Amino acid sequence: MPRTRLAPSPTGALHLGNVRTFLVNWAMARQGGWEVVLRIEDLDGPRIKEQAARGVIDTLAWLGIDWDDGPHYQTADLAPYHAALDRLAKRGEIYPCRCSRSQIAEDAASAPHGDQHELRYTGRCRPASPAPLDGWSPADGAAWRLRVPEGKQHFVDQFCGPQSLSTDQTVGDFLVSTKAGTPSYQLAVVVDDARQGVDQIVRGDDLLTSTPRQELLYERLELGPPPTWTHLPLVVGPDGRRLAKRHGDTRVDSYRQEGVRPERVVGLIASWSGLAMREELSVAEFAAAFDLARLPRDRVTFTAEDDAWLLEQSS
Ligand code: GLU
Repeated sequence: MPRTRLAPSPTGALHLGNVRTFLVNWAMARQGGWEVVLRIEDLDGPRIKEQAARGVIDTLAWLGIDWDDGPHYQTADLAPYHAALDRLAKRGEIYPCRCSRSQIAEDAASAPHGDQHELRYTGRCRPASPAPLDGWSPADGAAWRLRVPEGKQHFVDQFCGPQSLSTDQTVGDFLVSTKAGTPSYQLAVVVDDARQGVDQIVRGDDLLTSTPRQELLYERLELGPPPTWTHLPLVVGPDGRRLAKRHGDTRVDSYRQEGVRPERVVGLIASWSGLAMREELSVAEFAAAFDLARLPRDRVTFTAEDDAWLLEQSS
């Protein structure tokens, strides 16, 4: 049976943008008969807020989104990530890096790079040829990077169509383990998707450029064929930037506290997702009516009218 996952990072409460992605993912799963795994991506230490994981689970349940397996917490068992790092190190696919952030920034400034959010690593610590090591060790304070080959990688996204991206030109040799000995997001997500049997990934299109990195890890770790990818446009504020705190309080919990019903939140998301104009809907009605082919291709803008409509009927 196909499997997907909801993979929230509990860095704060869910806002309307996160929830739109989860709702569409869940609706596709329920339509397609896929199993749903709930995975809490809590490796990202300092940014993880206490109670946030519980809050995220509670918000999903309040909306009526359910899952068949989990919640699984990444921090519960680090052994599978360490085993993957060990395997890569023994094959010379990864190498330790002791560059400071300022060295990386300096090198990146003098070389072209194409990713908005991440600096390109130009390979200061990269051995000239793959150097197999005894294994990966978290103890020596080095970060670890994957050797990224030159050239473009190709994949087909179910929503965005054929893609062709060069990781060596955007971020270069990317991190698989941080200086603190924590597995990176890229490594952890691949190890987990593979061991949890996830073959359908639906997520925001801010992660489209991570996909070739993850496909490369599938290959290097010999995990079999990578999953099928569906990247959805993000929800943005009136200024065109990704929905976040700067746009005011768009946390679903805050609307809930104002007395807004879950059907109203789902109704707003339906109006952003190619379904009827704003009207209250249950998640089951949303799942029955949702059609990926009708999902608007552009980013969705959260407006003051959307906010007013949510609050109109609150008690
Ligand atoms: N945990 C990630 C996030 O909340 C999602 C990771 C993924 O879908 O691959 O942005």
